[in-house]
Amino acid sequence: MIQRRQFLTAAAISPAMAALPARAADDYARPFDAPYAPVLSQPSREIRTVVGLRPYRGSGFRLEHEKFGRRDVIHNYGHGGCGVTLSWGCAQLAVELAEGLDERRAAVIGAGVNGLTTALLLLRRGYEVSVYGAALPPHTTSNIAGAYWHPTTLFDGLDAVSEAFLAQFRRAARIANRAFQHLANDPAYGVYYMRYLGLREEPPLRARTPYYEGDDLYAGLAVEINPERYFGYGYVERHHALMIDPDIYLRALMRDVENAGGRIVQKSFETTDDVFDLKEKLIFNCTGLGARALFGDETLGPARGQLTMLLPQPEVDYGYVHGTPDGYLYMFPRKGAILLGGTVEMGDWSLEPSETERIRMIDGHAMIAQRIADAAKAKKS
Ligand SMILES: Cc1cc2nc3c(=O)[nH]c(=O)nc-3n(C[C@H](O)[C@H](O)[C@H](O)COP(=O)(O)OP(=O)(O)OC[C@H]3O[C@@H](n4cnc5c(N)ncnc54)[C@H](O)[C@@H]3O)c2cc1C
Repeated sequence: MIQRRQFLTAAAISPAMAALPARAADDYARPFDAPYAPVLSQPSREIRTVVGLRPYRGSGFRLEHEKFGRRDVIHNYGHGGCGVTLSWGCAQLAVELAEGLDERRAAVIGAGVNGLTTALLLLRRGYEVSVYGAALPPHTTSNIAGAYWHPTTLFDGLDAVSEAFLAQFRRAARIANRAFQHLANDPAYGVYYMRYLGLREEPPLRARTPYYEGDDLYAGLAVEINPERYFGYGYVERHHALMIDPDIYLRALMRDVENAGGRIVQKSFETTDDVFDLKEKLIFNCTGLGARALFGDETLGPARGQLTMLLPQPEVDYGYVHGTPDGYLYMFPRKGAILLGGTVEMGDWSLEPSETERIRMIDGHAMIAQRIADAAKAKKS
């Protein structure tokens, strides 16, 4: 382990890296053959390690209207590992579910990305809206998200979901992708494009299947099988990804909700009866994992994820994912940090960071960085 770290330190100060240009604010979507700056994956650069619980349902998110006496509840929760990704689309579908109802005053329970986006769409349709959240940004799970635009960790497989869900999912993904495109590169929202590489040592045994949401949502999508091109990896699926920096983005969403006349209130509900004490009769349930206790959905559970944040490197303008025998490794650059991730532990409620995983990430990403540094050196000589 020590050897790997020393190796990387040497790479960090190599002339190949020093020659890499700094990233300009409007230069995120660089061509795939532009240089790749290695990540300085070392314990001395760690800012923090955090754990978040993705709200996971084997049958996919719940977007449904349920009647409780005189109350109408629209559920919009359970988005697993892609709640930011799908937010605009699921919010749009949730708001459509209320279309036949007369009520024009709505309570949104939940102030994560799904609650705030739903609130914003309701406000734009002329509703009077109050958002209630036990936690407000920056303390929600949405603030922990990567957040790479990609529907993933959402359901157990095609056998576990209904046709109706798949139709909702595809429509939500396409609406959401378009909405984020319109926000890209506006510094107020922290949404931008980035080169993204799916790195594999070998081609997969089966040919790739197109994304259910549509391959056309991934700009520049292509498969490369030339190991010389990508640091010795024998199979690379690449595209220009949409990235959302959640700290910047959720702050902007809060501001948009308030500027549109919405009220955001910090408030926790113990039971559904507490919710029904609110004066609003139309309720949007956007409580993420909280819906398990609040609305008794036992099919909802945690998909635990751990992230290690390193000091930012403005020259790192790409992200990647790499599967290893010990688990996944992914890296996304944010303005305020380099984010290292790669864990999905179903049913694990622990919010304590795992030291084993922290070391696996720092060392695993250091190995990838070393390959990137070596490839740059070989190109120069
Ligand atoms: C490590 C990790 C990496 C991830 N990476 C990505 C990614 O790359 N891309 C992506 O799209 N997604 C990613 N996700 C998933 C994403 O974070 C979630 O899907 C998303 O945050 C869910 O948003 P939400 O608004 O539904 O829930 P939350 O953000 O959890 O918000 C729920 C809100 O409801 C409130 N609430 C809950 N219960 C109650 C109650 N009883 N009373 C009052 N309020 C209540 C909470 O306080 C909070 O305000 C990742 C998640 C993790 C953990």
